[in-house]
Amino acid sequence: MTKKIETDVLIIGSGPAGYTAAIYAARANLKPHLISGIQPGGQLTITTDVENYPGYGDVIQGPWLMEQMKIQAENVGTQIHNDIITEVNFKNNPFIAYTDSGSQFISKTVIISTGAQAKWLQINGEEKYKGYGISACATCDGFFFKDKEVAVIGGGNTAAEEALFLTNFAKKVNLIHRRDSLRSEKILQDRLFNNSKINILWNKKVIEFQGKNDPLILEKLILEDTINNQKTNLSVSGAFIAIGHNPSTELFIDKIKMDKDNYIITQPDSTETSIKGIFAAGDVKDKIYRQAVTAAGMGCMAALEAEKYLSNS
Ligand code: NDP
Repeated sequence: MTKKIETDVLIIGSGPAGYTAAIYAARANLKPHLISGIQPGGQLTITTDVENYPGYGDVIQGPWLMEQMKIQAENVGTQIHNDIITEVNFKNNPFIAYTDSGSQFISKTVIISTGAQAKWLQINGEEKYKGYGISACATCDGFFFKDKEVAVIGGGNTAAEEALFLTNFAKKVNLIHRRDSLRSEKILQDRLFNNSKINILWNKKVIEFQGKNDPLILEKLILEDTINNQKTNLSVSGAFIAIGHNPSTELFIDKIKMDKDNYIITQPDSTETSIKGIFAAGDVKDKIYRQAVTAAGMGCMAALEAEKYLSNS
């Protein structure tokens, strides 16, 4: 039998935006329900060191920070559901969200904080060797490449952090970037340049992954020089893709206004979406800052705006 749960505030997603929205909504006595989604805790659960979230003198761990946010959200009165939203109906208020386990949430406001997911290169061999040498998470899989040679693809903060993290295990880390300068922060660039295990391959793109069939295992990357188109091979046991993210908005396509990259559009200086009563916070609407602290800030804004909306309606 379908379980129907009526609420004032439904929060979809459990990253820094979702938990912060939950903390603020709960403290406003709105008794929010939060649906954790496929990756409870969000992207920070697959990172290690966090040294730019304010409030901690020492380096903290991403999974620990998310666990603390969850405990805090629960302690102030949020009901957290380890479930996945499979469909939403935003045609009328109250809005309805259907979950994988068969529940129906009927809510006067919704805060969307579903975050973003890693992008893939979508080239030959990638799908075949995913999990057999190809990964998008050094924290999850780096350990398997002890004393091996690996590659990281990308030039942003994620690529820099993954490359640095992998030096804890691998004997050599090749950072492959399609241009001649990195996008990542200067402090991370300095660490990369000063790490003897890291070799940066500039102006190169991966055009194919090749390996063995039996057992299925990645062996090499085919690289193409982005200036002279020359092709070379690079033998590696592992390849970590770190080329950015896509917003997790499949559920909301054609239901709410999005930009051309499927990020949810919100009003300037607000988390208000194209539908009154529905708010969006964090990476699902932000392609510029994408930090835990900015996501948390937007979660706070969304809860305050939901509270105001409820008191005016
Ligand atoms: P970014 O979008 O910042 O960087 C993506 C990188 O991948 C770019 O260097 C880009 O190249 C490259 N790239 C994109 N598509 C391709 C492709 N098809 N082939 C080859 N290379 C490609 O993403 P990140 O995931 O690194 O970072 C996302 C956000 O999260 C940023 O705002 C970042 O600052 C933040 N972040 C912050 C951290 C921190 O503060 N500690 C840690 C991790 C992330 P090009 O440069 O040529 O465009």
